[in-house]
Amino acid sequence: MIIHLPKNISHVHAQAYADSLGALYLEKPDYFVLITNHSVQQLPSTLQDIALNHWVFSTDMQLSSRKYKPDTHRITIGDSYIGGDGKNQLMIAGPCAVESREQIEQSCQMLKQQGIRVLRAGCYKPRTSPYTFRGLGEDGLKLLAEMRSKYGLLIATEMRDATHADKVVEYADIVQVGAKAMYDHGLLTAAGQSGKPVILKRGFGSTLQELVNCADFIMSCGNDQVILCERGIRSFETNTRFTLDLCGVAWLKQHCNLPIILDPSHAMGYAYGIGDLARACTAMGIDGLLIETHPQPEQAQSDSAQQINHQQFIDMYASLQPIAKAIGKTLL
Ligand code: PEP
Ligand code: MN
Repeated sequence: MIIHLPKNISHVHAQAYADSLGALYLEKPDYFVLITNHSVQQLPSTLQDIALNHWVFSTDMQLSSRKYKPDTHRITIGDSYIGGDGKNQLMIAGPCAVESREQIEQSCQMLKQQGIRVLRAGCYKPRTSPYTFRGLGEDGLKLLAEMRSKYGLLIATEMRDATHADKVVEYADIVQVGAKAMYDHGLLTAAGQSGKPVILKRGFGSTLQELVNCADFIMSCGNDQVILCERGIRSFETNTRFTLDLCGVAWLKQHCNLPIILDPSHAMGYAYGIGDLARACTAMGIDGLLIETHPQPEQAQSDSAQQINHQQFIDMYASLQPIAKAIGKTLL
């Protein structure tokens, strides 16, 4: 249950009510928020005369539920936004990882020419094998910061684990929690306390309910700027890397109040499918795309097969424009 209490009671009292219910407690400008788990189905009698409002849920998807806030959260991205009235679709693009100054600079030049606002590249790469490239770490973050000042791009980058969460928060404009870290409560808390927009990627073996519960973890730390990312789930199919769950996206659009972006690159695993998938996703009316593109994909140190080259990116991006226009969206 979510309960709103008025500001004319002191925060000490609000906190005491929260403690008595075993509830989480948040302070918002106009009210206090108490959040119990969903098993509480009736407003406690002690709060009958005090509560401004309350909401009952059938699962612990609460703060992120449209039952609580019907409108999609609006998340500021530089001088624009996603979510809210849903008019914008944001392109988040770049190589899988920062590999060198030359590589990231070539990426920025292309993105800038295309009018893209957000560069995404990893410096702490979660890998399936310990014998592969794990990213440049803080040197990579410093290169990203340089690129932000030189090209005016916003930086999205991933926190892989809690050892460097504070560094990523310091450098990034948008913080990414990756699929393999979706359940990491240390990272969810760091993301919740970051004060920055967070891309929360769905674990490839996670249900939609588990994804939205993790979004609630971040929001229950006071950060509502959560962007959900569908990046493919594991199915019985092995010819593609994962299976992009568009039904899941439709479910999220219906039930969850957070913007949703799609990552066809990690879902498909092969460059040849990315254009088609990006067009299909755009036609669904989503809030953004995350696309991996590399100046020389064949030389990429991670996710080489799925990264499209710059010309392929330019062609794909141009092909999204009429689709976005047809459904009343502006591509950012
Ligand atoms: C990534 O975004 O570069 C990444 C590692 O993806 P995921 O967390 O979806 O596997
Ligand atoms: Mn990648």
